[in-house]
Parts: sequence; C-alpha cells; structure tokens
Amino acid sequence: MSTRESKVLIDCGVLISEDNGSPYLNAPEVMPLGSIDAVVITHAHLDHSGLVPALYKYGYDGPIYTTPPTRDLMSLLQIDFIKVAMGEARKSPYDSSNIRKAVANTIPLKYGETTDIAPDVRLTFQNAGHILGSAVAHFHIGDGLYNVAMSGDIKFEKTWLFNPAVNKFPRLETLVLESTYGGYHDIQPSRHEAAQQLKEVIRRVLTRGGKVLVPVFAVGRSQEVMLVLEDAMRSHQIPEVPIYLDGMIWEATAIHTAYPEYLNSQLRTQIFQTGENPFLSPMFKRVETSDMRSNICDDVEPCIVLATSGMMSGGPVLEYFKSWADNPLHALLFVGFQSEGSLGRRIQREAREITLTDRGQPLTLPIKLDVETIDGFSGHSDRLQLLNYVGTMEPRPERVIVNHGEEFKCSDLASGLYKKFGLEARAPMNLETIRLK
Ligand SMILES: [Zn+2]
Ligand SMILES: [Zn+2]
Repeated sequence: MSTRESKVLIDCGVLISEDNGSPYLNAPEVMPLGSIDAVVITHAHLDHSGLVPALYKYGYDGPIYTTPPTRDLMSLLQIDFIKVAMGEARKSPYDSSNIRKAVANTIPLKYGETTDIAPDVRLTFQNAGHILGSAVAHFHIGDGLYNVAMSGDIKFEKTWLFNPAVNKFPRLETLVLESTYGGYHDIQPSRHEAAQQLKEVIRRVLTRGGKVLVPVFAVGRSQEVMLVLEDAMRSHQIPEVPIYLDGMIWEATAIHTAYPEYLNSQLRTQIFQTGENPFLSPMFKRVETSDMRSNICDDVEPCIVLATSGMMSGGPVLEYFKSWADNPLHALLFVGFQSEGSLGRRIQREAREITLTDRGQPLTLPIKLDVETIDGFSGHSDRLQLLNYVGTMEPRPERVIVNHGEEFKCSDLASGLYKKFGLEARAPMNLETIRLK
C-alpha cells in the first residue's frame, strides 16, 4: 500500500505447494526493499508470514507490526519451515539468523491499540476470529483522509476458540476481503453440527477397538479439535482413550495457553474464573520420540492421534498412516481443507490404493481404513458468513476489493457483493494496482 508519504507492506507469505505462489518481491512497488516504511502481518499462517525473514536477508531493515501471539506463532512456523526444507534437501529462502532479526524488529500491538507506523499511516488491529492473534488491520491514512481495512483471513462465527471477527470501525472507505470460501457453492455446516459429527465418528471407531488418525495443521484446527475432544471425553460422550499430539502441535498449544486473553469470552472465563485450562488436560500426551511413535503405531489399544501435516504432504502423520492404512478397524478423519494435488485430497477422493515415497523408495499401500471428512471446522468464513460480514459492517464501506482465493471464487464473491449490496466490488489480478483516492 502506497500513500503520499509512505509505503507499507501487508503480509508476506509463501505457498509451499505451488510454483507461482510466492509474492512478487521484485515488483517496482516494493523495490528496493529498503524503501518500505513498515511491514504489517495479519496472522501467523505461512501463506501470510512465511517470507518475512527473507525481507531482512534482501535489504529491509524496518519494523514489523503484529499482535504478540502472531509474533510467537510466526517464528515457530518459520523455524519449522526451514527445518522441513532442510529435511527434504530443498533450499530454504532464509536461515535462522533472519528469523531472529525479524523477531527483534517486531513491534507487538494488541487488539484495539492504535499506533503511527509511518508518517501518514495509523494502524489498529481488531480480532479476525481465524487463529490465535489473527487480526483485521485497519489503516487510517493522512489527516482523516482515507480508511482501509485488510481482512487477512477471517471467521465471522463464534468458534470453540475465538469470538467472531470484528466488523465495526470508526471510519471505513475500502475493505480488502479474503475469499477462500467465497464461491457460489461454498456453504458449510455450523460448528455445532461439525462437533456432533466428529463425536459420532470417534465413538463408532473407538468402540469397535479402532484408532482414529486426524491430520491437522499445528496452529488452528488442532486446538479446536482438542477442545471438542476434551469436552466430549470429560462428559463421557466418547470413550476415554489417550489423545496423542505429534508434530508442532504441543508448542503451538503452549502459545495458546500463554495468551488466554485472545481466546473467546467463554473460554477466557473458564480459564480465569474456574482455573480450568482444557489445553492442560492430562488426556493429551505429547509424542516426543520416534520410539514412542512406533509404540503407538504397534499398540493394539484404541487411541486418537492428532498429527501434522494437515494435508499429509509430510510430517509424522504419514508414519501412523503407513502402519494403519490396511486395517478396516481404524479411521482417517479429515477436519481441514485439502488442496488440489495433495496426498490428503487424493485419499479423500476414494483412492483404494496409494503410492508414496518411503525413504526414497516407492511404497504402495492398500487403503482399507475408514476415510471420513468433517466439514465445518474451517477457520475461514464460508460464503454466507463473508456476505454477512460485509452486510452488517459499520460503517458499510464504499468499495470492496476481493482477494486471497482461487480466481473464480474472488470473482464469484465480488459479483455477489455487488448484487446483494450494490457495492463497488472488484477482484483484481496479481500485480494489478488500484488507485483509491
Ligand atoms: Zn490463515
Ligand atoms: Zn490465508
């Protein structure tokens, strides 16, 4: 975003699975990187924060503004990102010294606090309801001249973890809105239905003596599924079995317990007034070594395992999957988005057999375990929630710029906003520039 006097970069992510997903850091608008006044990060997911340390490698030396939990989660995910790259003998776009530099340059800003980030730009973050610390960034430009809000990723529904995204601002002319589920057919079941379905599947599999494997991202869905499981097990709605957490989930959950004030009102009350923190329940067990992992794989007792990565593109989830795939007692349970081309998506599409690479060798596995998908746990708003977010916004913006979605979803949502509210709504191409005033 460029104003008369300054230049601000909002989000700087990386798409690990695609060739053309990285940002255009060589575009004339951002070059040279030293000319940028401030960097603002809406939340920690790598598609928003994954390339931030690279900015310091290539000449940026200024501040990063983000919420305190985003600062912590972001560096955790960035460290994991370079670790995974090294493990796969790929070149990482930066090293740990760049991550340290980024942390040192971060200025944490709580929800609702306003600060000057450039000569003519004031920034305020508000809750976005998507993951811990996720924010809608509101920019007040010039002396009452213009106001822009960048949604980042938003969830406009109260979830097990967070309050719904904020859509009330003192002033607003332009909204930049995500559209991950903005397509005409992107309607999802409610959180309540999703939780019921999750408990049903788990009850069925555990009572027949099977194990349940849930592929999850370290941040977001795993903590939400943990809360549903903790509640269901404590109230005896599902059998009592160990719940193993494998991958970065433990560390990410620890960051959630460090910031209870960023959780929804109910959870906050539970933690502060009754002293019960569901994340610290002894039901959850951390998988610390590969020996422990193979014991869990071979054990005959039923259990639940939450393991990364969420789309089964790598990580410990594959170890469990390899040893349980041919047993019809067990179940693989998808709770998160599976992108086109991922292993998760291929299995979800009723593959009977799958070939993976195992230590460099092809390995063909018959798939006999149950494969179940539970929609409705998404951290993103579905189409109705996105339309509602804009419909109930105060003040209603004059213009909406739709981004962060597949091309047809961006234009589906833009035309929906125009038809429903008569708003000027557009879905720009990558690298397109829009003059707001
Ligand atoms: Zn996200
Ligand atoms: Zn995103």
